[in-house]
Amino acid sequence: MDFQNFGLHEAVVHGVQSMGYSEPTPIQARAIPSVLGGRDLMGSAQTGTGKTAAFALPLLSLLKSHGKKIRCLVLEPTRELAAQVEIAFKDYARFFDVEIGMIQGGVGFGAQKQMLQNGVDVLVATPGRLLDFMEEGVVDLSGIEYLVLDEVDRMLDMGFLPQVRRVVEKCPKQRQTLFFSATLPPEIESLTKWVLKDPEIISIGERRSPAETVTHALYPVAKDQKFDLLLALLEKTQYHSVIVFTATKVMADRVAARLLDLKHPVACMHADRSQSERSEALEGFKTGKYEVLVATDVAARGLDIASVSHVINFDVPGHPEDYVHRIGRTGRAQQEGDAFTLFTAEELDAVRAIERYINMSIPRQKLEGFNYLYTALFNESAIPQGGAARGGRTLKGYSFGARKKK
Ligand code: AMP
Repeated sequence: MDFQNFGLHEAVVHGVQSMGYSEPTPIQARAIPSVLGGRDLMGSAQTGTGKTAAFALPLLSLLKSHGKKIRCLVLEPTRELAAQVEIAFKDYARFFDVEIGMIQGGVGFGAQKQMLQNGVDVLVATPGRLLDFMEEGVVDLSGIEYLVLDEVDRMLDMGFLPQVRRVVEKCPKQRQTLFFSATLPPEIESLTKWVLKDPEIISIGERRSPAETVTHALYPVAKDQKFDLLLALLEKTQYHSVIVFTATKVMADRVAARLLDLKHPVACMHADRSQSERSEALEGFKTGKYEVLVATDVAARGLDIASVSHVINFDVPGHPEDYVHRIGRTGRAQQEGDAFTLFTAEELDAVRAIERYINMSIPRQKLEGFNYLYTALFNESAIPQGGAARGGRTLKGYSFGARKKK
């Protein structure tokens, strides 16, 4: 199977081939014919599966040429994802006469307004800024023929569903709608009933299991030593680039500041940083200016950063799905990656929930040469569910040794 067999527009096939992609991924193979055939779609594929091209290629083919009104609207939960999807559309449309634009919050209105006034065929947007422009009368959605709601469960998490509904209300009823969500909680299910008509349901790459190319390890540690262990791990590990995830924005700032004090080339990314700071952090991390990116879960979903060699969870994610998303930042496209998770006694239940979710037990490691304070976790098997504070004092069952150097 190659891209020529689908009946995609020639220029789009040329665009995707010039990206070096010759074979469609499974979601592309299923979604492209269905979208070209005019069906609504409900896809439960995650990012990393080639989902963007699965909707961008057929939609560009259907659009065919530059028109007067916005004809295709793509809603994304975060600014980074919106930027990434805009770039993907532009890449695939490089031999094609279609205008693509993006609007996102956190930056000035002027340039975006100008772009809208010049006219675009495809608009990629985050819901908040789109509504601002709609209220101002700068955006007209009456010409929408194709609507893509991407990462809808993420939009739900971020409290955007009311905005999404307001946007959908302004789109013509006669349209084709593509809907992507990794999970389907009841709020989302009711939304699908409202926005989709007889959709084709495609569930691909619903990956509970992280990529097989990722090596996992859990590092139990006493609370007071978390930062020291992070430092020791960074010192002992030959990493190319590492993302350190924290549970909160405050903790991300704190960890980044301490690493900076110690002269690590570090950038920090979370929702309270300005758009220019976030873009600079991401760009600097991609180009290698920063070797360490400290981030909250804002960065965990969907960002396509090539060659992240290590992910370190400074805090254990509270939702097991987020573990899979976080470590999905490494081991992409068959590259190898390592995922380390530091955890304290308070986080043991969250660790066990992750292991149940991914259906594998993650090896516990101790870093050789690190001066450990005692923690009850060293005899974890003696700790009952929900009882992380109790436990014995043996060190049995531990595999010592730093990870192998690459
Ligand atoms: P996505 O799931 O859309 O975030 O895509 C994940 C990565 O796969 C991106 O870097 C895409 O550019 C890349 N990609 C998309 N389609 C293909 C393909 N058919 N073959 C190889 N890589 C692809």
